[in-house]
Amino acid sequence: MQTFFSSLNDIERFTQSIGSQSSCACPHCQLSDQWVSHGYVYSQAGEITGKRLVCGRRYGKNGCGRTQQLYLNEVLPHRRYRLSVLMAFITRLIQGMAVRCAYHAALGHAIYEPRQAWRWLNALWARMPRWRTCLPSLNITVRRYRSWRLRLLLNALSAWLTGSDSTLLQEQLQQPFC
Ligand SMILES: [Zn+2]
Repeated sequence: MQTFFSSLNDIERFTQSIGSQSSCACPHCQLSDQWVSHGYVYSQAGEITGKRLVCGRRYGKNGCGRTQQLYLNEVLPHRRYRLSVLMAFITRLIQGMAVRCAYHAALGHAIYEPRQAWRWLNALWARMPRWRTCLPSLNITVRRYRSWRLRLLLNALSAWLTGSDSTLLQEQLQQPFC
């Protein structure tokens, strides 16, 4: 089932036609026509980040009662920062900037300690197998960071991101980038 969308309009169009598409089967019970809208999801700043659907099991519905969330492409599920901030961080690392500086540059300020940056890198590292499989080559040279893990990760990411539009990443993957 599609969970990432380019725009709120696309989400609306999807939820309006959802009952009639077999590709919208609930991942838990496989029924596709029991969805009920459960309203928008908002960020802490009050912006809409997506929409929630329930596989209804009340009021004449016989779904499983579980919730499915639809996200805007720009939203990283369960993370505080948006995809564009993470991409700005990765781009600067690939350019050779130190982790702390890349993190602060991506955020646009230096208020926070870069602990979050290491959390991102760990989460990206955990997804390495996915990028390794679509690697065209490992010939791209990234600055010699001391950490071999960081070198490997940035090599894989830069190869993987070459030629792809990062603003559409999650929509193409249909899964969280990080
Ligand atoms: Zn269900």
